[in-house]
Amino acid sequence: MKFSEFNFHKDLAKGVKIAGFKEPSPIQEEAIPIIASGSDLVGQAHTGTGKTAAFGLPMMDKLAKGEIERALVITPTRELATQVADELYHLGRFAGIRTLTVYGGVGYGRQIALIHKGVQIVVATPGRLKDLYRKGKIDVFNPEIVVLDEADEMLDMGFLEEIKEIFEYIPQNRQTLLFSATMPEPIKQLANDILYQPEFLSVVGDEETTNNIIDQRYYMINENQRDEALVKLLETEETNKCIVFCRMKREVDRVAEHLQALGFNASGLHGDLEQRDRETVIKAYRRGETKIMVATDVAARGLDVKDVSHVFNFHIPFDPQSYVHRIGRTGRAGKSGQAITLVTTEEFRELQRIQKEVGAEMRLATLQGGEGLDDTGREYLAEQIRDIHIHNDAADMLTYMSEMDKELLLEKLMSRLISQEKKHIGTQIGFDQETVDEMMQGYMGEQKATRNNNRRRKRR
Ligand code: AMP
Repeated sequence: MKFSEFNFHKDLAKGVKIAGFKEPSPIQEEAIPIIASGSDLVGQAHTGTGKTAAFGLPMMDKLAKGEIERALVITPTRELATQVADELYHLGRFAGIRTLTVYGGVGYGRQIALIHKGVQIVVATPGRLKDLYRKGKIDVFNPEIVVLDEADEMLDMGFLEEIKEIFEYIPQNRQTLLFSATMPEPIKQLANDILYQPEFLSVVGDEETTNNIIDQRYYMINENQRDEALVKLLETEETNKCIVFCRMKREVDRVAEHLQALGFNASGLHGDLEQRDRETVIKAYRRGETKIMVATDVAARGLDVKDVSHVFNFHIPFDPQSYVHRIGRTGRAGKSGQAITLVTTEEFRELQRIQKEVGAEMRLATLQGGEGLDDTGREYLAEQIRDIHIHNDAADMLTYMSEMDKELLLEKLMSRLISQEKKHIGTQIGFDQETVDEMMQGYMGEQKATRNNNRRRKRR
């Protein structure tokens, strides 16, 4: 299907073209004709499906064609309001559509003045919008289309009462559209109260047109370093919510227990859990009470949670598509995300295959543990110090620096040595490029030798 089939106003069509949209996404294909027809709509879809354009385009088409004069979009957060307004601006700018974002934390004056000047679309968060209506400051703004975006999120954030109050101020003869990733009972109830004979459509699943901004890194490790690497990364990365992907249910349990034992706020999620337990786990994670979700691919499929800052691949997934699904859990809603994969020499070929097939840009990274000097490291350093040959100028330097406190001098020299020897004292997670190249050469050599041996054995 092509966008031209929607017969948008030519200036709007130009915006779509310049945005680089080639084909409508599934939700756009379904929602645009419904909205164009004037019906109310409940759309179950989340960010990344193209839902903003799904409601934005038919709404702006009506504005461009003069069929309506004003539209209102209500979003749970300031970030989303800005994001939606940006998208509407980009698509609608050739049609000269004026959009205003309205949210709390800033002065009222400018927002009110702009509304009075005659903006066509207001994108607002519930709190400020309610205040403006209550104070009678925006009586002039009577929207003919109202969109509630991410309604379930508004519910989670406790905005339900505000939303209900806002609808008391808005004229009844309007078209109302409600979008929500999930449909809990209070949202169904709300839809019942504020929508008139709505059409329903649901686009949940994997057909996303994401524009996630994801920084992809991998750490090359030895098999026995997996747990340690994960823990170090969790300790050093600035994480919000994380998902740790494992290949097997057993591994999910083990890793989750290991992290819990170390005091991390982690839970496991896999298909063997009772439905009720799964829901409890997901709910706690969604609310941010659990910070780390350890999960299998299958269990995480339906998991649509915002603010996932990090996805860790404890093991590389079995196929490239799973890799894409996994990392798509982060970097949502225009926020950047981190995707971190742990690989061993044996998995390296898999990693290359994924890089090639899905065009993933992954970079090799290492992590300096810094303070993590352990007994082996200490012994290694002590050995190095014992072996140091005393230089001719050492005594001279000591006299030269005699004004410096001896203890401080020693500590400084020791620190210099520690940073020089970092590579050898086990405080680094992940091998550097040079070592990886050497390791892979060795590994490929071993593989070749094994193949040759097998061939020889067969021949005999
Ligand atoms: P949304 O689900 O509205 O947050 O949209 C996700 C991203 O997909 C946004 O950056 C949109 O600009 C982009 N997008 C929306 N529709 C399309 C489309 N039909 N083709 C390409 N990209 C799209």
